Amino acid sequence: MADSYDVVIIGGGPGGYNCAIRAGQLGLKTACVEMRKTLGGTCLNVGCIPSKALLHASELYEAAGKEFASLGIETGKVSINMEKFMGQKDEAVSGLTKGVAGLLKKNKVDHIEGKGHIAGKGKVVVTAADGSKKTLETKHIVIATGSEVTPLPGVEIDEKQIVSSTGALELDKVPGKLLLIGAGVIGLELGSVWRRLGSEVTVVEYLDRVLPTMDGEISRQAKRLFEKQGMIFKLSRKVTGVEKSKSGLKVTTEAAKGGEEEVLDADVVLVCIGRRPYTEGLGLENVGVEADKRGFIPNDHFRTSAEGVWVIGDATHGPMLAHKAEDDGVACAELIAGKAGHVNYLATPSVVYTRPEIASVGYTEEQLKEQGREYRVGKFPFMANSRARTNHDTDGFVKVLADAKTDEILGGHIMGPHAGEMIGELALAMEFRAASEDIARTSHAHPTLSEAIRQASMGVEGWTMQM
Ligand code: FAD
Ligand code: NAD
Repeated sequence: MADSYDVVIIGGGPGGYNCAIRAGQLGLKTACVEMRKTLGGTCLNVGCIPSKALLHASELYEAAGKEFASLGIETGKVSINMEKFMGQKDEAVSGLTKGVAGLLKKNKVDHIEGKGHIAGKGKVVVTAADGSKKTLETKHIVIATGSEVTPLPGVEIDEKQIVSSTGALELDKVPGKLLLIGAGVIGLELGSVWRRLGSEVTVVEYLDRVLPTMDGEISRQAKRLFEKQGMIFKLSRKVTGVEKSKSGLKVTTEAAKGGEEEVLDADVVLVCIGRRPYTEGLGLENVGVEADKRGFIPNDHFRTSAEGVWVIGDATHGPMLAHKAEDDGVACAELIAGKAGHVNYLATPSVVYTRPEIASVGYTEEQLKEQGREYRVGKFPFMANSRARTNHDTDGFVKVLADAKTDEILGGHIMGPHAGEMIGELALAMEFRAASEDIARTSHAHPTLSEAIRQASMGVEGWTMQM
C-alpha cells in the first residue's frame, strides 16, 4: 500500500525543508524527499555555507598576514594548514545539515531518502540509492528541486582542473593561476578565497562590467577595489576553449563581439557563468507541466499549470537565493493550508560576501531610469563614518534611492564592512514601505557602521551631517 500524505515536497534544500517545516507546523501530513545523503540542498552542502566558511577563514588569514601588524598585533609568519582550513568548513556543513534533519523530525515531517519522480496526479515514486522503490500518494506535490551549474559548451568540468563551485570548495592545494569564467557572485566570492591564499586570479567576463545585476556605481567601484586586491579582469571577453596539457591549462579567449584572440595559462579554471533549474528525471510530462526555454517552471503564486502541483525556489523564477527559496517555501505551505501566502521580491536582499561586502535591495539606479521614475539619491562614504575609521575599514559607501515625490525608499545599496548584516535595515524599511525620512529620523547608536545608512537617508533631503 502506498503511504498517503497531504503534501509531498521533492527536494530538501532551503525551499523544500522550510516548506516542509511550515507545512508540519500547520498540521499537514508532510513528506520531504531528498536524493542527497544529507538535507540542506545546494545551500548547506555545496553553496552558501561552505563558501562562507572559506571566506571567513581566508579573510582572517589575509588580515593576520597584512593588517594585524598595523594594529600592534605581532604574530610572526602566518601560514595555512589546508586540512584544518577545509575541516572547519566541513564541520559547519555537517552540523547544519544534521540540524535540518532534527527540525524535520521535530515538526513531524517524514524525511524520505531517494530520487523523487512524479508518476501522475498525486503520485510520487521514490527510488532509493539501493534501487528499491516506494510510492507516495498525496494531495499536493511541491517541486523544490533547485538548480545546477550552467555548463559552458566545449569546457568540460572534471572537478579537479576544470571545476564548478563544488570543486572550487574542495581544492587540495592553492592553484598558482586560477582563471574564473564569469565575474558574478560565485566568481568574486570563490576568487577572493583563493586569491587571499595566494593564487593569481584572472576573471574573464562576457559583459563589460562585474556583478552585472548590481547597481552600476557599486559594480564600477567594486571592480576597482578587487583590482587593488590583485584580481585581473578581462571584460567583454569570452572563453572559446580550454586545452589540457602536462604543464596546465591553455584557455583560449576572444572579444565578446568576436576576434582579438588571447590565450591565457591557468592551473585551475572555475566555470561560474550562472545556474539553471534542475528538473532531470522529475516526470513533469506526467502532469503536463512545461518548463520555459531556460528551464524554469512558470508559476502563479507557486501554482504550476497542473492542479495540485506547486513550485518554489531556484526551480522557478526570481532571484536564485537561499532566503528567497525559504520565503517561497513558507508562503507555498501557507497557501496549501488555505491561508494567505505572499512574497515581496522587491524587498529580497542580495549579498556578495567579499571584502568589502556588497549588499543590495530594491531597484538599482539603472532600473529606476529605465522605468522613467523620478527619484532622489542620498549617499554616504564609510571614509566619513567614525566606526569604519576606528576599525580602519573604510572602503565603500551607502546609497539610498527614494521616490522624488513620496520619499518612499525604492532601493538601497551598500558596499562596505558588514554590508550583508546592515542591508536588513533597508529591507525592513522597504517591507514597511518607509520613507527615507523615517530612517533619517530614527536614532542609530554611535559609533556604529549603521550610522552610514542614516546619513545616506538624511542625504536624500540634503541634510547629511557627518562629512
Ligand atoms: P537547492 O538548495 O538546490 O535544493 C534542491 C534539493 O533538491 C537538492 O538537495 C537536490 O539534491 C534535491 N533534488 C533535486 N531533484 C530531486 C529529486 N528528483 N528527488 C529528490 N531530491 C531532489 N544563496 C544565498 O542566498 N546566499 C549565499 O551566500 C549563497 N551562496 C551560494 C554559493 C554557491 C557556491 C552556490 C552554488 C549557491 C549559493 N547560493 C547562495 C544560492 C543558494 O544555494 C540557492 O539559491 C538555494 O540553495 C536554492 O534553494 P532550493 O531549495 O531552491 O534548491
Ligand atoms: P551569476 O549570474 O552571478 O554570474 C554569472 C556571470 O557570468 C555574469 O556576470 C555573466 O555575465 C557571466 N557570463 C555568462 N556567460 C558567460 C560566458 N560564456 N563567458 C564569460 N562570462 C559569462 O552566476 P554565478 O556567479 O555562477 O552564481 C550562480 C547563482 O548562485 C547566482 O544566481 C547567485 O544568485 C547564486 N549565488 C549567490 C551567492 C550569494 O548570495 N552570496 C553566492 C554564490 C552564488
